[in-house]
Amino acid sequence: MKGMTRRELEITDRGEILEILDKCKYLHLGLCDGDEPYVVPMNYGYTMDENGKLDFYLHGAVWGRKLDIMRKNPKIFAEMECDTEPFAGDVACRYGLAYRSLMARGTAVFIEDPEEKMKALSILMKTQTGEDFTFTEKLVKVVAIIRLDISEYTAKCRPMPKARPMTADAGEDA
Ligand SMILES: Cc1cc2nc3c(=O)[nH]c(=O)nc-3n(C[C@H](O)[C@H](O)[C@H](O)COP(=O)(O)OP(=O)(O)OC[C@H]3O[C@@H](n4cnc5c(N)ncnc54)[C@H](O)[C@@H]3O)c2cc1C
Repeated sequence: MKGMTRRELEITDRGEILEILDKCKYLHLGLCDGDEPYVVPMNYGYTMDENGKLDFYLHGAVWGRKLDIMRKNPKIFAEMECDTEPFAGDVACRYGLAYRSLMARGTAVFIEDPEEKMKALSILMKTQTGEDFTFTEKLVKVVAIIRLDISEYTAKCRPMPKARPMTADAGEDA
């Protein structure tokens, strides 16, 4: 992925990346419908192996625009964020938002095998609730399950700055 502009804000620590993945609960899925971008929010489950390889699992109705697009063009880009908190500054351009976020590039794969679909839904529910759920073949027949095979991802944290005076003449920049 293209290098981050403020490299010092990049998160590379696996534990902190896992915290973001556990907290966000939904991602913004970016797709290309021909030459028109399409973004759709989706809840997810995820797995990360010991080498840091990341996969997401999505579920939903078996029809709709996002599925039509992914069938034609499986390339995806996803973004998620958590811990968002606005902060004030002494001048307008120093106002901002603290956050942690993750962006990922990959490929959408439709899962058709009932066993794999059941496993994917269990992963999704584990991420969403922290609980273990099992599913029947009958239940998974009526939902579409998509795995996002992630080839690259980056994570970033913009921390809350130290408190700054609210008036321009109240003192030196903190
Ligand atoms: C936080 C969040 C989490 C969600 N999680 C899931 C999930 O896990 N699985 C799931 O299937 N869906 C989820 N949804 C709903 C999802 O965003 C879509 O509405 C839904 O999946 C249908 O998408 P589609 O591309 O099939 O649209 P279609 O039903 O085919 O509709 C096409 C058109 O409807 C409009 N539209 C569709 N969705 C939305 C929307 N959310 N807001 C405004 N306009 C819309 C757009 O103009 C779009 O072009 C979630 C929504 C939110 C806000």
